[in-house]
Amino acid sequence: MTINGEPVATEETLPVINPATEEVIAHVPNATVQDLHAAVKSARAAFSRWSSTSIDERSEFLCKLGDAISANREELATLLTLEMGRPSAAARGEIDGASYWLKEVAKQRLKREVIEETENHLVERYYTPLGVVGAIVPWNFPFALSIWKIAPALLAGNTVVVKPSPYTPLTALKIGEIASEILPAGVLNVVSGGDDLGRWITEHPDVNKISFTGSTATGKKVMQSAASHLKRVTLELGGNDAAIVLPDADPAKIAKPLFWAAFRNTAQVCIATKRMYVHEDIYDAFLAELVNFAKDVKVGNGSDPATDLGPIQNKMQYEKVIDLIEDTKRIGANIVLGGEIEDQPGYFIPVTIVDNPPEDSRVVVEEAFGPVLPVLKYRDYDDVIARVNNTKYGLGGSIWGNDIEMAKSIAERLETGTVWINEVSVLSPHYPFGGHKESGLGIEHSLDGLAEYTNSKTIMINKRK
Ligand code: NAD
Repeated sequence: MTINGEPVATEETLPVINPATEEVIAHVPNATVQDLHAAVKSARAAFSRWSSTSIDERSEFLCKLGDAISANREELATLLTLEMGRPSAAARGEIDGASYWLKEVAKQRLKREVIEETENHLVERYYTPLGVVGAIVPWNFPFALSIWKIAPALLAGNTVVVKPSPYTPLTALKIGEIASEILPAGVLNVVSGGDDLGRWITEHPDVNKISFTGSTATGKKVMQSAASHLKRVTLELGGNDAAIVLPDADPAKIAKPLFWAAFRNTAQVCIATKRMYVHEDIYDAFLAELVNFAKDVKVGNGSDPATDLGPIQNKMQYEKVIDLIEDTKRIGANIVLGGEIEDQPGYFIPVTIVDNPPEDSRVVVEEAFGPVLPVLKYRDYDDVIARVNNTKYGLGGSIWGNDIEMAKSIAERLETGTVWINEVSVLSPHYPFGGHKESGLGIEHSLDGLAEYTNSKTIMINKRK
């Protein structure tokens, strides 16, 4: 771990498992409450100095961190493949993307705003940092999601304690190591441990904000325990995103992007397409194109350059996805591809596509977070919009077709934070991103996301003498 710029070990450790082989590849520290206290104390001590440096200086630090990440690209990508299962090329992409992200966030500025200026009165709004930010990260994009929190939190003048998922702690621990050569001591601390460590962070009286990405169930617990000190919270949670394919779409053209929308990262993506609604006029043609593309995609060990999709990241999730497939078989739904799990080491699940299962089946209603996709038929726009909105989730969604005006009018009626038209999963440090309903609270990325790492402060001056 990195606490106050120093490497810290613990007596107790946690094993890290390579999901492609089920072998233990490392043991990482299992932080105690005392370790967390030390991390928060060092972040608190570093805060007054860090928050009073100029934003341009902090911005330079972020760029240097971005360069250092690029310089360690191969080691980080290898670790990511080993801990997460991600194929090597995609692992390198995650590292490169994080470095880019740091440098783009470094360009952002929340400007002092003059709200009113008259002869007698001046009203200005400032943004001030919050203090210590606790960043709690899941296992599906352990590196990128850590950086997405670290970059805006530090730029805004906060200090940070990061806690990766116990399943994928290696790359985040490495960020601490790399940053200790660049940032002043205490500005960025990284601690590893189990779910309890997450809870201790959310309960800690000296942590001012929690930036959490993870499941909706845990997000609710985070909000509850953050309430005790009225901590600020940003929650990026689960999703059950739908794609709606219009009757004028070209099945041959869209099958490939829609395949990747659903299965990228072995479908362990919050904004993965998890339900695909296709107009009945082109349903059969689309399903045939999708299955035709999907059958040649190679699932395997991410270290093999020929692999397109790696394993499920952990045993718990693997068993959950298998249970969902078993349930799909039990109800007699038509599985047109995959569905059979081979008895071999590693948490591998084949690409599985289900042909028009009932709307209330578990494979449609639940967030699979694994490579099982229901393709569903619709006839009427009002009906499909109602079905897509009939979920507690509201993260994203996409619409595919040539009639852009129709696509836009549907987009306006979807109850989600993002809707893409003829593209999907496009994210940027400059586009606001956040969930509606039980998919989250608050915004990440963009100036709105940066503002969530600050307090708004209004100063008014009566100029009359
Ligand atoms: P999870 O909720 O189980 O764990 C997330 C993190 O929270 C881990 O670091 C975990 O140790 C920690 N944690 C567990 N219990 C805690 C508690 N009581 N208090 C504080 N922290 C606690 O999620 P996961 O299984 O790691 O990730 C998968 C989920 O994340 C999926 O639902 C997915 O959709 C969601 N996700 C959302 C986004 C988004 O941006 N909306 C992005 C990626 C993943």
